[in-house]
Amino acid sequence: MNGHPTRPEDFDLYALGVLEGEEKAAIESHVPTCAECATRLAEARGRIGLLAFSAPRVEPSPTVRERLMRQIHASVEGAEAQRAQREPERAGGFFGRWWAAVLVPACILLLFVAARLRNENERLSRELAQEQATLQQQQKQLDEALHAQALLESKDTVSVALAQQPGMPKGDVRVMYNSKMGMAMCDGWVEPAPANKSYQLWLVPKDGKPISAGVIDGGPINPWTVKLPQGMAAKAFAVTLEPAGGMPQPTGPMVLVGPVT
Ligand SMILES: [Zn+2]
Repeated sequence: MNGHPTRPEDFDLYALGVLEGEEKAAIESHVPTCAECATRLAEARGRIGLLAFSAPRVEPSPTVRERLMRQIHASVEGAEAQRAQREPERAGGFFGRWWAAVLVPACILLLFVAARLRNENERLSRELAQEQATLQQQQKQLDEALHAQALLESKDTVSVALAQQPGMPKGDVRVMYNSKMGMAMCDGWVEPAPANKSYQLWLVPKDGKPISAGVIDGGPINPWTVKLPQGMAAKAFAVTLEPAGGMPQPTGPMVLVGPVT
């Protein structure tokens, strides 16, 4: 064993005479071959010598000696353990900074991506809403066409011709009405309505108040179907001239009227 003693306290322990076994043998075999360690041992002997002068020299009992050595070794090992613990901490700090250097740009990138995705999502949502609106419109048109077809094919549907009333705007309107289905369809034409006025179609029941079947613009009528209460006993259909947009109940003069037979 020619290496320097690994524990610096071994010199003091040797000088104190408490080093034993392999450690003692190691010092004794190494020191004569190493000037540096010889100097360190001399220094240790000097320190111990001073201690000897300052306190009465007592030969420590084996128990005390053992405890002393354990304490010295423990404190040295403790210091070494602390140092070893600080190393990973420093490494952790380094890794923390290293991760931050990667994570910060990554987070910024993610924010950009998230913002882009949000914009894209909003755009798609708008497009989807438009698609849905178009689809609903188409569905409504399809429903109307199907209703019109069902109305025209039904044996229960009656055709009501509305006759022009004396002194009133000219028009020729026909209503296809099905009481069981609760549905009517209107087509024909009426003279353009005066300013701020609308024509309004009414179902006049045998009992009760007229029920609005919709507002008619002047000119050729785009045929449309309208839902009405089912099973009504209708007396007539009539068109009146009302304030623009129509009224809940008829207020104006009767322009066209036709009995339901
Ligand atoms: Zn040495």
